[in-house]
Amino acid sequence: MKCPVCGAIYRPTKGTGAQGGETDGQISPLPAHSPTCRRCKADLSDLINLHDQAIWYHRQALDLLLKGYYPEAATHNNQALALYYGHADFHALAGKLSALQGEWREAIASWQQALKLDPKNTVAGDCLEMIKLNLII
Ligand SMILES: [Zn+2]
Repeated sequence: MKCPVCGAIYRPTKGTGAQGGETDGQISPLPAHSPTCRRCKADLSDLINLHDQAIWYHRQALDLLLKGYYPEAATHNNQALALYYGHADFHALAGKLSALQGEWREAIASWQQALKLDPKNTVAGDCLEMIKLNLII
């Protein structure tokens, strides 16, 4: 996550909340200290709250996707995107949901956005690669 003030990369000081860790979709309790940017000392707690909320919506969306509720999943993922636009995984999931509903144009746009934010995003990269192959065949 980047500091919106100076652009420095913010890393939580504690070892908790590792990226990709499975924590049952629970929002972790707020840390005792208020998080600040180590470069410009801006208070980042609001940003982190928003980010946690967005992650929560994203996880709900993943859960709904597994149950086959695609439009509901898309609604939750859109909430996540509204709270925190700069997360490649949210765009990757939006692409997947669009594709599952037959909206390929939107799917491709979402995956391209995911790759713009994170060139190593495997979901978006693989899906776009698959589409390219299908178009050739
Ligand atoms: Zn900063």
